[in-house]
Amino acid sequence: MKKEPFVTLEQLEEITKTYPTPFYLYDEKGIRENARALKEAFAWNPGYKEYFAVKATPNPYLINILRDYGCGCDCSSMTELMLSDAIGVRGEDIMFSSNDTPAEEFVYAAKLGAVINLDDYTHIDFLEKTIGYIPETISCRYNPGGVFQISNDIMDNPGDSKYGMTKEQLFDAYKVLMKKGAKRFGLHAFLASNTVTNEYYPMLAKVLFEVAVELKKETGADIQFINLSGGIGIPYRPDQEANDIRAIGEGVRRVYEEVLVPAGMGNVAIYTELGRFMMGPFGCLVTRAIHEKHTHKEYIGCDACAVNLMRPAMYGAYHHITVMGKENEPLSHVYDVTGSLCENNDKFAIDRELPKIDKGDLLVIHDTGAHGFAMGYNYNGKLKSAELLLKEDGSVQLIRRAETAKDYFATFDCFDMLKDLV
Ligand SMILES: *Cc1c(COP(=O)(O)O)cnc(C)c1O
Repeated sequence: MKKEPFVTLEQLEEITKTYPTPFYLYDEKGIRENARALKEAFAWNPGYKEYFAVKATPNPYLINILRDYGCGCDCSSMTELMLSDAIGVRGEDIMFSSNDTPAEEFVYAAKLGAVINLDDYTHIDFLEKTIGYIPETISCRYNPGGVFQISNDIMDNPGDSKYGMTKEQLFDAYKVLMKKGAKRFGLHAFLASNTVTNEYYPMLAKVLFEVAVELKKETGADIQFINLSGGIGIPYRPDQEANDIRAIGEGVRRVYEEVLVPAGMGNVAIYTELGRFMMGPFGCLVTRAIHEKHTHKEYIGCDACAVNLMRPAMYGAYHHITVMGKENEPLSHVYDVTGSLCENNDKFAIDRELPKIDKGDLLVIHDTGAHGFAMGYNYNGKLKSAELLLKEDGSVQLIRRAETAKDYFATFDCFDMLKDLV
């Protein structure tokens, strides 16, 4: 599939008059259409709810768009909980799916009335000691171990992952939780990340539904929801085909009819905690080529760096790049597209075929709407960029200002010399 930016060169030239590059740009129209499609795909399940994985794109303006479609928040840290609270997402609109959880985070999640999703058997005791009781609604995270496979493709390796409980622990957890006063149960698993296939959710659903039926039989627990978590991916590469969310919803419905309904569990709500799927394609990083360098290789130096987008450096992740205004020119050059960090892995692309890039060209780095800005850091004292929203009416709203040196030095308030920085 041809990858095209959701913004034109003319629009970008206008935007850059006010906001210097680099910046993140998000597409309101795309976010809305996608959220609507997800909601429709699971409309067959009356209790369905998406809890947006806040860590993917922790921006209140963007999360508020998703709330128009009934989304809650999936949090896993103190500040993610604080962000949800600040925008009025509280109570059972928060799923607290954390791991290695500090005591104060359980306290705060409980205070907000969030649904707590326990990552480990030992967290039952820890939670009870920490907050003084076991909530009546509670969820457990399951890890079946082994490898997660679709036909011959290994999708991921749950046996190697730190998350969730074994099956035996899960059964024990339900029994202990019931004794301690839990009344409404949930079941959760996240077995593969960034899956670009319509089969992942239905297969995961089958695993979880079958365990839920067993759990209900053996413990008598009232299982009210099953949380398929995140993991639906996006086509980062032009040769990949996008997931069809309707087919995914329909696939889950089929398994639901096959496994849960005959077991008398036709009221179970389906929850999801999607992050990448909700925002990934609807954000891009806009950067300008500021240098070209011809040594043993051909380099284009940008004004963005890995601080703005870490995925290529961290995972060798592919992000498609469009050289704005040169969409139809031949891919006549092979470049490494770099940032300015003193780290040789600070490259948005390696040996990428691109049209000839000139200094001053605007580059759009695609599919950075999730796990992009959020993963940013401050190495080399580089500052994080602004985030902008391209609204449906074509106007642009600043939804997070760029960091300044003052922000960077703010934590040195013990150091007088820096206190007058502007
Ligand atoms: C990261 C995460 C998600 C979201 O994952 P995506 O791959 O962005 O869909 C959902 N749930 C939990 C518990 C997570 O850690």
